[in-house]
Amino acid sequence: MAIRKIVTEEDPILRKTSRPVQKFDEKLWQILDDMKETMDKANGVGLAAVQVGLLRRAVIVDVGDGLVELINPEILEEDGEQEGQEGCLSLPQQWALVKRPNHVKVRAQNRRGAWRILEAEGLKARAFCHEIDHLDGHLFIDRMTRRLSEEEIRRMQEDRVQKGKG
Ligand code: ZN
Repeated sequence: MAIRKIVTEEDPILRKTSRPVQKFDEKLWQILDDMKETMDKANGVGLAAVQVGLLRRAVIVDVGDGLVELINPEILEEDGEQEGQEGCLSLPQQWALVKRPNHVKVRAQNRRGAWRILEAEGLKARAFCHEIDHLDGHLFIDRMTRRLSEEEIRRMQEDRVQKGKG
């Protein structure tokens, strides 16, 4: 496995549409393994292939209850609404309030190409939506209600440290 470089906002690749994955081979598995290592190192809860410079419809999510790999994902159903803080490993200094569905049903392939249906709620639903957005060149700032101020970001980061210690 290897850590890959996470592309940031200035890179126009983030605005491009990713292509479907067609080969479920060792090359794909290597990319997915590298994405996991890169996400973990950066303390992220999700990462799309485009964020490591690859225009492939592959994302990973881990909100603390296990790693999920979504290949060629599509959202089948969404309901409810949540508004919460959202950030992105590709926009490291920015946080915003973003409205997302509270529950989503997603169809996706796994790393061997098998289709399955996954459901997610709360933070996991938010992460699924955020990562799947990346595949079509959308960033969370496109959907934000408002940007968080520097003061709010500072307070949020302090809270996080305290929770981590608790
Ligand atoms: Zn992101």
